[in-house]
Amino acid sequence: MSAHVLVINAGSSSLKYSLVEAASGEAAASGLVERIGEERSHHVHSGPKGEYDDERPIANHEAALEAAVQAFETQGPALADVDIVAVGHRVVHGGDRFAAPALVDDELIAAVTDLVPLAPLHNPANLEGIEVARRLLPDLPHVAVFDTAFHQTLPPYAYTYAVPSEWLASYGIRRYGFHGTSHSFVSEQAAKLLGRDPSEVNVIVLHLGNGCSAAAIRGGRSVDTSMGLTPLEGLVMGTRSGDLDPAIHGHLARVAGWSAEETDRALNSESGLKGITGANDFREVSRRRAAGDEQAQLGFDIYCHRIKKYIGAYYAVLGTVDAIVFTAGVGQHSSEVRAAALHNLTALGIHLDLDRNANPAQSKGFVSTDDSPVAVLVIPTNEEWQIARQAVAVIRAS
Ligand code: AMP
Repeated sequence: MSAHVLVINAGSSSLKYSLVEAASGEAAASGLVERIGEERSHHVHSGPKGEYDDERPIANHEAALEAAVQAFETQGPALADVDIVAVGHRVVHGGDRFAAPALVDDELIAAVTDLVPLAPLHNPANLEGIEVARRLLPDLPHVAVFDTAFHQTLPPYAYTYAVPSEWLASYGIRRYGFHGTSHSFVSEQAAKLLGRDPSEVNVIVLHLGNGCSAAAIRGGRSVDTSMGLTPLEGLVMGTRSGDLDPAIHGHLARVAGWSAEETDRALNSESGLKGITGANDFREVSRRRAAGDEQAQLGFDIYCHRIKKYIGAYYAVLGTVDAIVFTAGVGQHSSEVRAAALHNLTALGIHLDLDRNANPAQSKGFVSTDDSPVAVLVIPTNEEWQIARQAVAVIRAS
């Protein structure tokens, strides 16, 4: 039987899991427990024997994983019947300690714990997921796959902020970048679609989901990316502002008396598309825009303008570009965003084919014209598969 990996993504009140065949990426089953710790936790599981969908109290992550194991028994496949070679854990922040996925041991847990100040919302939940899974599945190797690791190849001039240099040594202040698992996956797929080795191609990846980030990838290595110390910097997102003048924090403290936490919260949870249009879900923004809502139009324009600026910047960083790749919910599904972000870029050799753009699947994801010097590709991301592949590579090397 072929090797499978149980991929776990633990959030503060959720646990997402998927049993993935490492070679093909096929998910034998997947599920999600949401609202952990609330009275009406929600658990969905989809397996070969059917769907499970239930609401009941699930007190903590341990109970959530127990519920998942139980759902594997009832909806299949029973975990004992599958050749599971590893548990792969998504970990958001690996700091500059982790440039690659790593086997979980006590030392790794201590290192990820040390990184909590850099990702106070994410790393504690990821750690909770690891600890619970190690307790319930003690005979399997566990591998941590870091969202930041792919961007550890950034050169110092791309990751260093122009601030007093002791801030890096004292507080770890630098660009780390996120969505690395997605950027590495789709850039590899792009090279495959172009029929070339990843080491030969330069790619700009636009991961446009609830969170959004751009990356400049030269020969398979990330050389710049839009998210920074935290996932707040860069593109406009569902609820996050992306780039802004860093003086805004101080200005709001002086004129509105806001604390650092209040401004942080507003920039992370009340800004982006939500702040401008009132809706963070891109489909809702599109509906309102189609109905003539001016704020929705403004939000759309800001969102696409920011993407275009990053394409220009990363084009200049890379020098030559073989492909621009759109991925994640908005990137994969919004032909309007792709068309607006790439409008008027023919001088850069970027020629969008509007018919293909309307239906990327019909042209294997190619949405540029046949003679476009830069290919434009729509590639579904698959972070679970990438985590599974990386977990297998780690255990084979260990
Ligand atoms: P993700 O984080 O990759 O799941 O992406 C979530 C974002 O993708 C949300 O803003 C959704 O509104 C958006 N999205 C999902 N499907 C579509 C679609 N068909 N058209 C436009 N946006 C979509």
